[in-house]
Amino acid sequence: MAGEPQDDCLFCKIVAGRIPATIVRETETTVAFRDINPQAPTHVLVIPKAHYETAAVLAAGAPGLAADVLRETQAVADDEKLDSYRIVFNTGSGAGQTVWHAHAHVLGGRGLEWPPG
Ligand code: AMP
Repeated sequence: MAGEPQDDCLFCKIVAGRIPATIVRETETTVAFRDINPQAPTHVLVIPKAHYETAAVLAAGAPGLAADVLRETQAVADDEKLDSYRIVFNTGSGAGQTVWHAHAHVLGGRGLEWPPG
């Protein structure tokens, strides 16, 4: 069920401390940690602690929590001293989503081209 921890979810396991991650920020409702396969000098993932499969499900089901995630992306950018950065929510497999627990990618520290691939 949306919001409930899922036993087979990688990011729920990170939230629970069952698998390691390089956590850079944590609030009551969110965790931010470094991506294991960074695509830029700064590549941090911000997730809600509660399990929502996609950004779309999160925005529809828990808009306040979606706002918490967005606020934390800004905090990560501030911590990393990024004046330019990109926030990405891959939503659906056709867009490259591989982990089915909503997450924002915060990418920065190099020039970023547009449009993305
Ligand atoms: P997405 O493809 O948008 O679903 O993004 C999932 C991201 O999670 C990818 O960028 C992966 O590199 C990252 N990832 C997968 N496993 C881990 C992990 N154990 N710790 C940190 N990041 C991970």
